Amino acid sequence: MKWKNNILNLKAYTPGRTIDEVKKTYGLEQVTKLASNENPYGSSSSVREAILAASSNYALYPDGSATLLKEALAEHIGLPKEQVILGNGSDEIIAMIARALLKPGVNTVMATPTFSQYKHNAIVENAEIREVILQDGKHDLEAMLAAIDENTAVVWVCTPNNPTGVYIPESELVQFLNQVPADVLVVLDEAYAEYVVAEDYPNSTTLLNKHSNLIILRTFSKIYGLASFRVGYGIATKEVVAKLEPIREPFNVNSLAQVIAAVALSDQDFVKDCSAKNRVGMQQYYDFCNEEGLFYYPSQGNFILIDMSVDSDEVFQYLMSKGYIIRSGKALGFPTFIRVTIGTEEQNANIIAEIRTYLASTQKSKVKS
Ligand SMILES: *Cc1c(COP(=O)(O)O)cnc(C)c1O
Repeated sequence: MKWKNNILNLKAYTPGRTIDEVKKTYGLEQVTKLASNENPYGSSSSVREAILAASSNYALYPDGSATLLKEALAEHIGLPKEQVILGNGSDEIIAMIARALLKPGVNTVMATPTFSQYKHNAIVENAEIREVILQDGKHDLEAMLAAIDENTAVVWVCTPNNPTGVYIPESELVQFLNQVPADVLVVLDEAYAEYVVAEDYPNSTTLLNKHSNLIILRTFSKIYGLASFRVGYGIATKEVVAKLEPIREPFNVNSLAQVIAAVALSDQDFVKDCSAKNRVGMQQYYDFCNEEGLFYYPSQGNFILIDMSVDSDEVFQYLMSKGYIIRSGKALGFPTFIRVTIGTEEQNANIIAEIRTYLASTQKSKVKS
């Protein structure tokens, strides 16, 4: 068949190992997953009630315009609902953007390493990909600007960046936006925005007034603890949203997800509480890394990237055998690092103890050999 050449070597996304799989493989009773930056505290308690109370008319299609959820989001961000687009996860909005703007002969600029889906979708659309190496875990915005030319259609900016957790301060972002040509769409992926405590993190929605070529992506998968429901949203000018709307699948956000996301959005106390607990957990890792002399990137997300100075697959395997699923840095572009999602205080303490045991065992084997 006449497959596009550019997709012939494309690999399907490899999701992290599931808890059930790991339990079976290693004969473990308890397995903790700290691999995909999900919320260790689950979601707002109001979500469970909303699920029980939700309509059971499953035969009807969802509201294709997701009116109630869009209105709730519009109120939350203080902008009209015509400036909001919904996705089946923000992953889907990334795909919509690629589909609407990328094609052969066009190029797209992104950092590396960064979130894998920008490149993946650019490959599907057969666009030229220009990757700019991170500097100290952060986007090199100067070099990204230099990579833009008249054939650039989309620039991807992930802040805090996945997998490093490093964010871009407002002044740097504004300086960058001031120089990006007005006909290049800048995608600002803020999947972890609600976790950020840095004071110079921009309130990006205010930048839309001046920069009509900006789209901000956020998600219910991370701090809201609704990853399984698949809801993400984009915030842009009415014109940009109007261009993307026809690309969107008609019923991309299911009925239950629409209801539940709106309920979760209304519980901002839960969000604040999770963000505060996340900083306490982050400090557990900082203290541990400092004691052990391990390099890490300061993170404003709910995950930390730690240099173990060994093949990260080994650490990954070891921790999995002890009942902890994390991400090996191998597939993330950091072959000696591990990425760990910040868990509850107890989960953090337990996994840190396991990593200490691992470090002690490698020290001993180094002494022996
Ligand atoms: C998790 C994540 C997403 C995807 O979120 P979904 O809404 O679940 O599709 C997007 N961008 C980044 C940087 C992420 O880490």
